[in-house]
Amino acid sequence: MPYHEILVIGGGLAGLRAALAANQRNARVGILSKVHPLRSHSVAAQGGINASLGNHPRGGHDNWEKHAYDTVKGSDFLADQDAVIMMTRAAASCVYEMEHWGCPFSRTEEGKISQRPFGGAGFPRTCYAADTTGHALLNTVYEQTIRFKQAAERKDLVIYPEWLVLSLVIEDDRCKGVVAMEMKSGRLEVFGAGAVIIATGGSGRIYANTTNALINTGMGMAVPYWAGVALKDMEFEQFHPTTILGKNILVTEGARGEGGYLLNNKGERFLANYPDSEKAMEMAPRDIVARNITREILDGRGFDAGGSSGGYVQLDVRHLGREKILARLHGIRNICLEFSGVDPITDPIPVQPGHHYTMGGLECNTGCETSIRGLYAAGEVACVSVHGANRLGGNSLLDTLVFGKIAGGKAAEYVQGQRLTGKPGKAHDDALKRVQQKVDGLLSREDGKDTAAAIKTEMADVMTAKVGVFREKRRLTEAFETIKGLRERFRNVSPAHNGRRWNLSLQMVLELEGSLDVAEAVVAGALAREESRGSHFRNDFPRRDDDNWLKHTLAFHSKDGAKFQYSEVRLGTFEPEERRY
Ligand SMILES: Cc1cc2nc3c(=O)[nH]c(=O)nc-3n(C[C@H](O)[C@H](O)[C@H](O)COP(=O)(O)OP(=O)(O)OC[C@H]3O[C@@H](n4cnc5c(N)ncnc54)[C@H](O)[C@@H]3O)c2cc1C
Repeated sequence: MPYHEILVIGGGLAGLRAALAANQRNARVGILSKVHPLRSHSVAAQGGINASLGNHPRGGHDNWEKHAYDTVKGSDFLADQDAVIMMTRAAASCVYEMEHWGCPFSRTEEGKISQRPFGGAGFPRTCYAADTTGHALLNTVYEQTIRFKQAAERKDLVIYPEWLVLSLVIEDDRCKGVVAMEMKSGRLEVFGAGAVIIATGGSGRIYANTTNALINTGMGMAVPYWAGVALKDMEFEQFHPTTILGKNILVTEGARGEGGYLLNNKGERFLANYPDSEKAMEMAPRDIVARNITREILDGRGFDAGGSSGGYVQLDVRHLGREKILARLHGIRNICLEFSGVDPITDPIPVQPGHHYTMGGLECNTGCETSIRGLYAAGEVACVSVHGANRLGGNSLLDTLVFGKIAGGKAAEYVQGQRLTGKPGKAHDDALKRVQQKVDGLLSREDGKDTAAAIKTEMADVMTAKVGVFREKRRLTEAFETIKGLRERFRNVSPAHNGRRWNLSLQMVLELEGSLDVAEAVVAGALAREESRGSHFRNDFPRRDDDNWLKHTLAFHSKDGAKFQYSEVRLGTFEPEERRY
């Protein structure tokens, strides 16, 4: 049995940062990732990472307290304030660490790290590397991972790329490993570990209109959910205001941060007409801008693309000029040229809100500990909770690095206090057998009428149509019934072929089970929460209701679907107030 003191599941920013932190504390680490680490969704992050460096003249007075306040207000007061304070206090040192490791941040004229404005701050706080910040950061952290891997004074760090984790090994209420499938051979293997860190990213692909990579299925959330860890605040899904019409590829908030305007079909900067965005305009938080764009479209002041692409508004960056667009937004320009045939230097970009980020996730404390001992979570898969009901742009990259590091450190501490044998126990054999039976069962199933692809498409379509920016009881109930029906139909689905090597259709079936359970938790949570807060807007309950709903949703897995409990929000520093920008 392959054995590592610490197993990290996921090779994105959170996973690699966790692995590094654990390895620096002399733990032997294994990283399992279903794609090569550099293909993780982190690589696609565009606009930047927040830290109150105060490098921009307009942000010279910035400090971590202001960053904390903006984050809590942005979260519509659902974030846990101690967690937010931990993150914003650590932000500057986290960004400087990346700088010292060689991250090629964009620079001011004096050579400091450049900052641009992002929503919810009011001045420039977001550090960036042009519009490819995730690429720069992920490569930086990956280089460090490889460096330590090769450094003689460090203990082992082994990367297993293209291994899909399917189950946890739990013994005596402690997590002691995972069962995973090597994609190229289809071989199942049980891995032993003193501790496991889940860093499997978001679950955006439960929606059809998402900016997320195809790999973000939510399977990594489902595996610990099945083992008893609660999913927290799953009804809060972020819809990004500006994704490319019909394709839903992201156009970074940095485009507005650099000065881009949003225009309706009358050529008006319509955000001025809404009380919640009249001052901050394009720099209001994402939940507010996405809603006001959707209102314009629904009220007939958008543009109509016809067909299935839906309505849209325009994002105009032409006035920034060719030079600035090429220097700061070259990635966006290329995406626009390639996917919408528009050159932002000469034409406005057609944009519409699209699904972007999973605010909820595996419940854990500020030490990234879940309810199962020895099991940690960090990054988008986790809900610490620093984003509450709405994440500010630029705070997720920060979350991955700050809490990735904490998870690695905590897990290393935990294994140092254990007597580890590295030998498989009965729980390992049992877990492997269970997964083997499941996979063998799937591969020997008779071909049914249904395909995994059809079920996946129906799930993603209903989530987009009925669990989007505006929600209401009737449509949520319909979505709930649809997902329930799909979970039934899933029982008869078989992979398109029964080989073992690189069987992507087997992978799709295995992951679809996770996606469906995650989607069910989202819809059921949204149906239960009878108020409007952050990204969760109920037409039938349009007000925030702090008396009854200033609380976290906890979904627990059961065979008949999610069962709910609620927990307190940790307030303490900032009192809930009305959100206007
Ligand atoms: C297009 C786009 C742009 C963005 N821009 C920004 C930005 O500018 N600023 C910002 O703050 N945030 C941004 N975000 C959000 C941010 O990039 C992500 O939240 C963050 O990078 C997630 O990092 P992660 O390490 O948690 O997960 P990921 O980077 O998604 O990595 C997940 C890892 O888990 C592995 N994995 C998943 N499931 C399994 C499994 N079952 N078995 C084995 N391995 C598994 C995958 O292989 C992968 O390595 C953006 C997001 C998108 C989609």
